[in-house]
Amino acid sequence: MKNLIASLALVMAITACSDKNPFVQEWNTPYGTAPFSKISEADYKPAIIRGIKERAAEIEAIVSNPEAPTFENTIAAYELSGELLSKTVGVFYNISESDATPSIQALVDELTPVLTAAEDEVFMNKAFFERVKAVYENSSELTREQQMVTKKLYENFVRNGIALDEAGQARFKEINSALASLSQKFANNLLAENNAFKAETGVTVSAYPDFMTSCADRAAREKAFKAYSSRGNNGNDNDNNAIVLEIMKLRTEQANLLGYKTSADYLLANKMAGNPETVDKFLGEIMASAMKKAKEEIYDMQKVMDEDVKAGLLPAGSKIQPWDWFYYAEKVRSRKYDLDEDLTKPYFQVDSVRKGVFYAANKIYGVNVEEAPEVEVYNPDVKAYKLTDADGSLLGIFYADYFSRETKRGGAWMNNFRDQYVKADGYDVRPVIVNVCNFPPATEETPSLLSIDNVQTAFHEFGHALHGFLTKCNYRDVSGTSVTRDFVEMFSQFNEHWAFQKEILAHYANDYRTGEPIPEDLVAKIGNALKFNQGFMTGELCAASILDMKWHELSAEELAGFTDAQSIRDFETKVCKEMGLIDEIIPRYRTTYFNHIFNSGYSAGYYSYLWSEVLDCDAFEYFEKNGIYDKSIADRFRRTFLERGGSEEPMTLFLEFRGQEPDPGALLRKRGLE
Ligand SMILES: [Zn+2]
Repeated sequence: MKNLIASLALVMAITACSDKNPFVQEWNTPYGTAPFSKISEADYKPAIIRGIKERAAEIEAIVSNPEAPTFENTIAAYELSGELLSKTVGVFYNISESDATPSIQALVDELTPVLTAAEDEVFMNKAFFERVKAVYENSSELTREQQMVTKKLYENFVRNGIALDEAGQARFKEINSALASLSQKFANNLLAENNAFKAETGVTVSAYPDFMTSCADRAAREKAFKAYSSRGNNGNDNDNNAIVLEIMKLRTEQANLLGYKTSADYLLANKMAGNPETVDKFLGEIMASAMKKAKEEIYDMQKVMDEDVKAGLLPAGSKIQPWDWFYYAEKVRSRKYDLDEDLTKPYFQVDSVRKGVFYAANKIYGVNVEEAPEVEVYNPDVKAYKLTDADGSLLGIFYADYFSRETKRGGAWMNNFRDQYVKADGYDVRPVIVNVCNFPPATEETPSLLSIDNVQTAFHEFGHALHGFLTKCNYRDVSGTSVTRDFVEMFSQFNEHWAFQKEILAHYANDYRTGEPIPEDLVAKIGNALKFNQGFMTGELCAASILDMKWHELSAEELAGFTDAQSIRDFETKVCKEMGLIDEIIPRYRTTYFNHIFNSGYSAGYYSYLWSEVLDCDAFEYFEKNGIYDKSIADRFRRTFLERGGSEEPMTLFLEFRGQEPDPGALLRKRGLE
């Protein structure tokens, strides 16, 4: 016992947060940005522990306030609480994704459950909930933004089961922890299956599309396709079938506890789309157009295949199969469009592209971007910038972290180091935002040269950044990109539309060796290539979105009818048939390797990509009708959407801007499907 007390004291001593900890001190740095050189890895844990305690005390003070609950003394007080925690976590999570040493990784593993438990503590606090509820039920006099903040907080409680009776709450929590471990199991199995796929075929999962595009050996393609599409469904130790059923049954039970018939009903209730019917109708329309186009694409590919038959490379009567798609699509592409990325890359040197990204923001919104060498960065690869508005006022600080490195996870993303919000004394805290990408670093021979896809990514992520910078909200929880999942990509994808516009290209796309501007025929080829193979691409994406919806639309009774792996296969087959998917295409993800929906936040949400794309295409068409650099439209876009974050319902904002509901036709036209 003595030992225990002694070791506890030791832990307390180690984790005690001294006032010298850089997170506790005020940052007297340019724009209050993080003093990275003063922060050591040992500073995170004590600051987070102290931050959690401070916030708990602040919430306790809110709860024990003898005055009747008001927006100010409850919701606004909560919004302003936890300053040390946000300040620390803002740095910690960003570093853990983009500059994760093994010791940072270990800290993430250690602190994630601590942070999750602290969050649970807040949203299981009944006394706190009662105050929030009182404000929520009497919110008619509040501003619209205050109503939205209150609603969001209230729903967070309710959706976490606070209103359930004791037994219901206990079951809810039990399901949460069961789901967490099932998702982890799903992911672990998938990882093992991915490794097995590589062992069997010599190809990694991420290199699969490239392999299928370039592999001339049809039998090898067939083998790879079959191995790829049966991951998690091999009846071995890593089989995901039983796990999927268990996950779906538990999710549905949770939805039932909260009064929803299916988990799709529950998951969509707080999204822009609002309900499963709306999503189903939307996806159905896109699917029909995609399949029409896909049939034309097969026709073109079959012609090339017939030539291979004639040349004796394939047996007579060979028809396009799912494992032929990538390969023959590439053959059609190179014939039709003749676009060689080795020719485009010299025009997309990374510094030029960044210049183009900033130039577009200036041309559209009047935003100015200048280098800020006085701002410290966390890695020598990172560059800091200051963004100001047309009137010279500060919008925020931007870090561009573009190059891949070992300590960075894959992909590209935008994140906040600091959110925008207004302090109690009226001071407008401006955001600190990062764009992280995995662009190829310079080599000894060449500077960093970007692919067309990379260029789109740079514009995409800066679109998120603009959403974060132009925000004019009062409360953290609704400012900037704090909007629903099916709305947030609208702004990043919207910004992509400018990447290859003539006027913008003229400003940035110059050959890094000669300074020559990109020739017009090459620009035209890029435009055409972006519309290529869209029947297939849209079809497989849409099919996965529908499959996701259909799983989550099953009731508890229907799920009880699933007994084994075969019943899952039969369900997939039926769903694909009903959606009109042709045999040559399979969903981008099949059930047993659909990580987005069984181990990530995209359950009944994979449609979000297409949904957001409709919004951005529709908005862009509106710009096109008026000339894409029309100041008044851009101003309206900025005032309606970018300044308001989540302070109003997304559909209300969209109607306000557009005067009508989003038209799926806009997506079809952009993808060349109409
Ligand atoms: Zn995005």
